[in-house]
Amino acid sequence: MKSWISRPVPQLPGSMPALRLFDTVKGAVVTLEATGQQSMYVCGITPYDATHMGHAASYVAFDLLNRAWRDGRQQVAYVQNVTDVDDPLLERATATGVDWRELAASQITLFRTDMEALNVLAPDHYVGAVEAVPMIVPAIEQLLLRGLAYRVAGSDGEPDGDVYYDVEAAGKHSAAAPDAWTLGAVSGLSDAEMLELFAERGGDPGRAGKRQALDPLLWRVARQGEPSWPGGGLGEGRPGWHIECTVIAQKYLPAPFTVQGGGSDLIFPHHEMGAGHAYSLAGVPLARHFAHAGMVGLDGEKMSKSKGNLVLVSRLRAAGEDPAAIRLAILAHHYRTDWSWTDAGFAEAKDRLRSWRAALAVTPAGSAAPLVARLRAELCNDLDAPGALASVDGWARAALDAGGPASAADAALVSDAVDAILGVEL
Ligand code: ZN
Repeated sequence: MKSWISRPVPQLPGSMPALRLFDTVKGAVVTLEATGQQSMYVCGITPYDATHMGHAASYVAFDLLNRAWRDGRQQVAYVQNVTDVDDPLLERATATGVDWRELAASQITLFRTDMEALNVLAPDHYVGAVEAVPMIVPAIEQLLLRGLAYRVAGSDGEPDGDVYYDVEAAGKHSAAAPDAWTLGAVSGLSDAEMLELFAERGGDPGRAGKRQALDPLLWRVARQGEPSWPGGGLGEGRPGWHIECTVIAQKYLPAPFTVQGGGSDLIFPHHEMGAGHAYSLAGVPLARHFAHAGMVGLDGEKMSKSKGNLVLVSRLRAAGEDPAAIRLAILAHHYRTDWSWTDAGFAEAKDRLRSWRAALAVTPAGSAAPLVARLRAELCNDLDAPGALASVDGWARAALDAGGPASAADAALVSDAVDAILGVEL
């Protein structure tokens, strides 16, 4: 699938020190080895809603990681999926009387435009679930053959043949290896916590015929009125969400790849099950590290379509707001914290952008290099964007207080650094 267009990233003199990042699995900040080659998979959208601030914040967070690596002279392979067929998309299409393909296409277009506007670097591979079906089918067939997946008989109006991943069998199968996956390896949750989240987040713990309540769906056989694709021995149907991401990541990235990223609501079951699928298929972990971005609310409430309180990037853009200010409003919060979008916070971001742009016109000679060093020190410290913003604020205050004369060379370097490291164009 077509990705979006990245704007060029300025090359800065010097380079970012070794990156430290919070790893969800280890529950601690770890130093990422600077091997020269880094790889990242960030879970993409299900395209039934335009990009709301929660999505935007998550992609901006991992864009900081991407930029930090690049500034540290690392090659980055970046893959993102788009779940262009899934229950929520089909439900929305039915509810609004729109063809699901049209709904998906229109929302994917809007998402790409939002990402370009926010100066988020594009993935090297942007892969849809639908186009990945031919890769996913053999993976599920392999899990079935090896006894790590099973078919469920029809009941309560459900047809025969849905395929589920056997979490217990998979855990036993891999338990001998030190880096093996067993249920809970990624999330660290108790069974009770997992059960609760599984039901909340699209799982079907009560489905009759499953071996364990937490077994996730791998293949949903065709139903009347639902789209389906050829599934070889599986029969016509469509893939589950976790196996979709796993297979796409395994196809386009090394095993293990460096960082699996996404919002914190993806830790369980999505990233947990994806890690299991990957280990079962490849015998090595999916990723070396798992990193998660916080959730964004509106004025202290959870942002959700059902509450009608989504802040949409596209709506702000249509109202003439500067995307750089939207990005700055996001960066004012550390990526791991849960925070709320507020008018006051956005007004502050717009003031900050105005002040930085004004300061650029009176950049003092010799002020750029120390600022670049401070920006790097903040970013390599678990992507501390608020710290980086405070550094630029300090530089801007000093520049405005001095009131000139301006050094064109320093202004160019500050502008390049704020763009390269923070993705904010002055
Ligand atoms: Zn995913």
